[in-house]
Amino acid sequence: MTEQLLTPVHPGRLFLVTAPSGAGKSTLVNALLAREPAIKLSISHTTRDPRPGEENGREYHFVTEQEFRDMEQRGDFLESALVHGNHYGTSRVWIEKEMAAGNDVLLEIDWQGARQVRARFPGTVGIFILPPSIEALEWRLNHRGTDSAQTITRRLLGAGAEMAHASEFEYVIINEDFDKALEEMVAVVTASRLAFGQQAVRHRTQFAALGVPVPPVA
Ligand code: GDP
Ligand code: ADP
Ligand code: 5GP
Repeated sequence: MTEQLLTPVHPGRLFLVTAPSGAGKSTLVNALLAREPAIKLSISHTTRDPRPGEENGREYHFVTEQEFRDMEQRGDFLESALVHGNHYGTSRVWIEKEMAAGNDVLLEIDWQGARQVRARFPGTVGIFILPPSIEALEWRLNHRGTDSAQTITRRLLGAGAEMAHASEFEYVIINEDFDKALEEMVAVVTASRLAFGQQAVRHRTQFAALGVPVPPVA
């Protein structure tokens, strides 16, 4: 076990969920949050157009290219990346506030953003969602009914590049049977919370009363 795992600064965990477009990431995350309402979901900023049914401030904060650049220059983003031709970024202030409050935080971001976040928060728990096949991915993107044929082609062409980074994540879930994938995601969250370092921070007094040695928090 690494020193870092033994001495987390925050009792909350930072979860990263990454997947090729259409693998079911958002559907799984929404179902997970219905089960685990204490997890705080980061709402990214993006320059892409809202899809039918998407609301500003719910799925994303939708901003113009200029607004995005201004935020970038002000240092407002913990990470940002260009994905399928659109800019995406995670609010730095929001994450720092939630982490400082000891909350579990979940980010739905691409592999480039995941790398940047890990560099800042080394105790991150990365979950990569795979589709059962490329054919299933294509079927899901078509049947979701939210994107043009051109957008779907672009996302399918980008899927291989995203999946090439699956090995950078601690956990992999194959989203074939949805209910099974959801149970697996809940299991990862539950197990992550039971890591020695997390438990020692959450239950410091109890550990002390039981005489369980705990290295000092860094
Ligand atoms: P979806 O993949 O079909 O759900 O389409 P989206 O437009 O919601 O997301 C497109 C890509 O942008 C995905 O790879 C996301 O993981 C990624 N993404 C979304 N928000 C962020 C963010 O804040 N930062 C980064 N780096 N990537 C993001
Ligand atoms: P992502 O956020 O990864 O782009 P979505 O969550 O939008 O993907 O899911 C893409 C589509 O696939 C949606 O229409 C969703 O209802 C569907 N879907 C998700 N998981 C499954 C599954 N296990 N089996 C069949 N369809 C699924
Ligand atoms: P979509 O436009 O379909 O909602 O998202 C496309 C991709 O952008 C997804 O793979 C999603 O994970 C990624 N994405 C969404 N928000 C962010 C973000 O804030 N940062 C990064 N790096 N990627 C993001």
